[in-house]
Amino acid sequence: MSIISESLKRIKPSPTIAVSQKARELRAAGKDVIGLGAGEPDFDTPNNIKNAAIKAIRGGDTKYTAVDGTPALKKAIIKKFKKENNLKYSEDEITVGTGGKQVLYNAFMATLNKGDEVIIPAPFWVSYPDMVLLAGGKPKIVKCNEYENFKLTPAKLKKVISKKTKWLILNSPSNPTGASYTKSEIIKLSKVLTKYKRIHILSDDIYEHISYEKSKYFTIAQISNLKNRTLTMNGVSKSYAMTGWRIGYAGGPKEIIKAIRKIQSQSTSNPSSVSQAAAVEALNGTQKFIKTRSKEFKKRRDFVVNSLNKIKGINCLSPNGAFYVFPSCKKLLNKRTKLKTDSDFVKKLLEKSNIAVVQGSAFGLPGYFRISYATSMKKLKLAMLRIKSFCESLE
Ligand code: PLP
Repeated sequence: MSIISESLKRIKPSPTIAVSQKARELRAAGKDVIGLGAGEPDFDTPNNIKNAAIKAIRGGDTKYTAVDGTPALKKAIIKKFKKENNLKYSEDEITVGTGGKQVLYNAFMATLNKGDEVIIPAPFWVSYPDMVLLAGGKPKIVKCNEYENFKLTPAKLKKVISKKTKWLILNSPSNPTGASYTKSEIIKLSKVLTKYKRIHILSDDIYEHISYEKSKYFTIAQISNLKNRTLTMNGVSKSYAMTGWRIGYAGGPKEIIKAIRKIQSQSTSNPSSVSQAAAVEALNGTQKFIKTRSKEFKKRRDFVVNSLNKIKGINCLSPNGAFYVFPSCKKLLNKRTKLKTDSDFVKKLLEKSNIAVVQGSAFGLPGYFRISYATSMKKLKLAMLRIKSFCESLE
């Protein structure tokens, strides 16, 4: 009998982390690999945030804190939600975890019973389905096509809802496509959801601040009557280039927040005290970094999208947020190129041209690949040249 649990057998390791690992190994073996697989900003954490952490260490802020966040951080989060999203929460409606990832994981562990369904629009962030499976739930994947800008439509949502639906996940801007929902698209989806009182909404807003939309950012709890059944998740990883600090948070119904606290109290306890102090400064301090960084990301997005669309066989939409693009490689999958799947394409691209990207099938939509442009312009220029010559060599 295996020592490994049945629940663990249901899931696979993160494919995006696997690509980063493979790129690291090849680099260590002396290959000049350009990694376009990582889901983290290449910018450093701003100095004011680092200094807040140093001050916290020197000031003895090094002990256990309240399980789901210090009062100071909860206050900063409440202020952020009010100011940026016009959402009003009290402290017992806020939870802080070790990254947004832990908040999501805890939410599923706290709410899913065997067979409960979670609607996940595809392409999706790789961890959603596996987290749901680990918690005993059933991912209900809804394919959203390129001609729909990879977004869930009200008709598709209506069709997939069943008696067992417990959650709908919305992620805007999206990993892996960068697509953002407009205010009117969110309102249309919320009109469908209004009728189904038992369905909860998990709004993953982690890329909120990496947005090139001219219009304001909207999250579902803010512009619908669904706040009392929405968990609005966010974090400092992407917004403030703090992926290693591991702080994520959510605002939502007291009952769910309390259940998350219970899980956290018996697993990891509080997130790092020093990281929490840094996150207070991230949220309360100057927000200048967000603007300058987004400008730089926009420049890179334009360059990458233009370059990709000049390559024969590749098509790429220009998304409004995050730091990903999700081009199609379908035209290059045929007998002539001897490539059958997006995984073949990605594998060959790494072997022949030393470019690491992630296959679309990992995100639930085959025929595509994800490029993260969170890397220097210099590397992106070289990478685009290599992708071009690789694709031309297939002809
Ligand atoms: N949600 C999405 C869509 C993500 O892409 C990520 C990270 O890649 C997370 C949540 C979790 O981020 P973190 O755990 O660093 O806060």
